[in-house]
Amino acid sequence: MRYEKGSGGGPGVAVVWHRGDLRTHDHPALVAAVERGSIAGLVILDDNILNATSTRRRVLFYEHVRVLRATYRERGGELYVRTGEPWIAVPEFVAQLEREAFVTGVHALRSWSPYGSTRDAQTAAALTVPMHWHDGLYVRSPGSIVTQAGHGFSVYSPYLRAWRSGAPPEPLDAPARMTSPGLGNVDAGDIPDDVSDVPLPVAGEAAALRALVAFLDRPVHEYAASRNRLDGSGASRLSVWLTIGALSARTAAAAAWERPGEGAAKWIAELAWRDFLADMLYRRPELLHEPFTARWNTFTWNDSEADFAAWRDGCTGVPAVDAAMRELRATGWISNRARMIAAQFLTKHLRIHWTKGAKVFHEWLLDGDVASNTGNWQWSAGLGIDNAPYFRVFNPVTQAKQHDPHGEWLRRWVPESNGNAAVLPNAIVDLAQARRDYLEEAGAVR
Ligand code: FAD
Repeated sequence: MRYEKGSGGGPGVAVVWHRGDLRTHDHPALVAAVERGSIAGLVILDDNILNATSTRRRVLFYEHVRVLRATYRERGGELYVRTGEPWIAVPEFVAQLEREAFVTGVHALRSWSPYGSTRDAQTAAALTVPMHWHDGLYVRSPGSIVTQAGHGFSVYSPYLRAWRSGAPPEPLDAPARMTSPGLGNVDAGDIPDDVSDVPLPVAGEAAALRALVAFLDRPVHEYAASRNRLDGSGASRLSVWLTIGALSARTAAAAAWERPGEGAAKWIAELAWRDFLADMLYRRPELLHEPFTARWNTFTWNDSEADFAAWRDGCTGVPAVDAAMRELRATGWISNRARMIAAQFLTKHLRIHWTKGAKVFHEWLLDGDVASNTGNWQWSAGLGIDNAPYFRVFNPVTQAKQHDPHGEWLRRWVPESNGNAAVLPNAIVDLAQARRDYLEEAGAVR
């Protein structure tokens, strides 16, 4: 059956525009659209994102889109793929559909990042059909947790108390059936083939949900202690799926909420920290480039390209730092502790601007997320987020001894260290002197 554009002569079709939410479980936009009748799923291969990202992250995205399309088809639906700038490509897709069907509107999960917010406003303005936004990217959406005076929180502990004041939202089931009308003349669109330079985790929500259950069925009570292991074996390793949206953070939080004990509580607090950083960047998008506390604008950063290259390429001669950077480049993932060691060394011992390190992380991390990356870099550099003290300087030797006590992680990534955390003879800095120099310079900006 065909409908005239805007005729209202039938139930019509709703477009579900997927972005960093490549799943069908706990997807309020998808559920709302399915409740109204027929749907057409849509992914835009956004030139602005995909042309600026690494091959590994592009391929990760394509693989997840491929799996999502298969899921749509298994349930009777269709996921269309288009390329271009969303504010052009989405209206063009709607116009194409309107030649075949009555389009009731476009549904999507609201994005909060600086680029996402601009993209969404521009796309909504370019549409001739209603745009419906739904919450669902975070457990608690940015802007939803405020102080009694109605402001956002800049310190995490009171934010966490407010965040924890009720159970996480009940996650939604994936629709068992989806109906896409026979849009015979509308091409589904191709998903490019490309090859990643690093092994990728299994794509799709089924793998992500299995991994969530497997993690929570492990002795999750140990997480509070084991999460700092440098090889990452004590944490969930769910971040890639959470970032690409194959796993809903609300589903993860709700599942952990039911588990007793300190480990589960600590794990939930990490999901809350993720929300906290998203909230912070939403309120202060300038944090992408500007320090949280303005006085850090007077800090003199080191411009040495040689120092920066040694850090990036994992040849500083400081085993824990080199192991982190080599593992990151080779696999696309490192533990939180390894990220903190590498970030503190760059910004404190080498005094190189945090945005240079954040750019490398964002490119190489498979879980690269603008809010988590920006916030954690600023936090690691001690620029004021959550009042993290600037004068706390991680010693990478002590850190490795504590969190890789048998030296296995070091031996794997820096064989020349033989598993020993001590600085190598070719090290580019004297750790103690570099720490003193940093503290002197940092003290002066206060
Ligand atoms: P778990 O310890 O099992 O935690 C569960 C989930 O909670 C994670 O998957 C993640 O979604 C969230 N989470 C945990 N720790 C943090 C944290 N410190 N900040 C924000 N969310 C957290 N995380 C990203 O997802 N993307 C990034 O781009 C990113 N960049 C970072 C840069 C630096 C300098 C630092 C210090 C941390 C960064 N993190 C980032 C946070 C953290 O390191 C990873 O989320 C975590 O290591 C992922 O491993 P996991 O899934 O095993 O985490």
